[in-house]
Amino acid sequence: LGPTITVGEILVEIMATTIGAGFLEPQSLTGPYPSGAPAIFIDQVARMGGAAGIIASVGNDDFGRLNVDRLRQDGVDISAIAISADWPTGSAFVRYRPDGARDFVFNIARSAAGQIGLTPAAKDLIGRAGHVHVMGTALSIPGAREVILHAIETVRARGGSVSFDPNLRKELLTDDGALESFNHVLGATDLLLPSDEELFTAAGLTDEAAAVASLLESGIGEIVLKRGEQGASFFGLDRPRIDCAAFAVAEVDPTGAGDCFGAAYLTCRRKGMAPDAALLHANAAGARNVTWLGPMEGVSTLAELTAFIAQAPRR
Ligand code: ATP
Repeated sequence: LGPTITVGEILVEIMATTIGAGFLEPQSLTGPYPSGAPAIFIDQVARMGGAAGIIASVGNDDFGRLNVDRLRQDGVDISAIAISADWPTGSAFVRYRPDGARDFVFNIARSAAGQIGLTPAAKDLIGRAGHVHVMGTALSIPGAREVILHAIETVRARGGSVSFDPNLRKELLTDDGALESFNHVLGATDLLLPSDEELFTAAGLTDEAAAVASLLESGIGEIVLKRGEQGASFFGLDRPRIDCAAFAVAEVDPTGAGDCFGAAYLTCRRKGMAPDAALLHANAAGARNVTWLGPMEGVSTLAELTAFIAQAPRR
């Protein structure tokens, strides 16, 4: 029914090389790496052979070229990426805490990514799309929000579908519009891809079973819960729950796992795979991604996922 599209920030990511150090003192960093949750997601869709496009904006600079070149090489439709003459490409700095948590310093609002809007190229891509994937991070950008809501309406009116990864980042939740659009997107979602905290936020409940039941009853067709190194679970209305253990891998960099996981699940489902097989491939995509330094460096082809599933041990 047409490509999977997403809307939102394309960034370069620069990461701390040690665990525990903050950004209040000089430290060793590595990067730039291509990044931005919507960009990682759509790159993973394209690497698996799914038709994929992104509505975004980068600067006329090396950080923009780094990203656009990668997306183009991997097969993403880049026709709706605007090149801003006035604003530089956005960035994200990441530090890692000893307990596994991460803190980000984002530069989105005052970057090219903050300028995303409904350009003629964006309208054209939306007019061809069969599925819209919404990243919660993009809802913090007012221009992207408008494009997302327009895309949802247009694609649903054509019989297309919507997936939503809340991807809540405390650093980006500074604006009332983001929360309002969060609820609007949730009401139009066919496939929800939350972590546990995001599931509780979406349902307004803190019990997992109650939160899942309430969201399924509200009309969401499928919920796939991401549990990091505990794997993932599938829930559907009147369908048996499916749990899938994570693969046992040595984690190098956790960023991007959720984006690759979601993209693999969606792409498998759009290719006609059943939920259990899609869940297995998604677990493999998340596991493979965490073994690479850099959020988009560990994206996988379908053949790589199949080979990995055949030999990798499970937790
Ligand atoms: P992010 O926001 O960093 O992209 P997330 O919180 O959305 O991540 P996670 O639950 O961390 O998503 O990871 C998504 C999936 O990737 C997990 O459900 C699991 O299948 C796989 N995964 C993540 N971390 C690991 C790990 N250390 N070992 C094996 N698999 C992992």
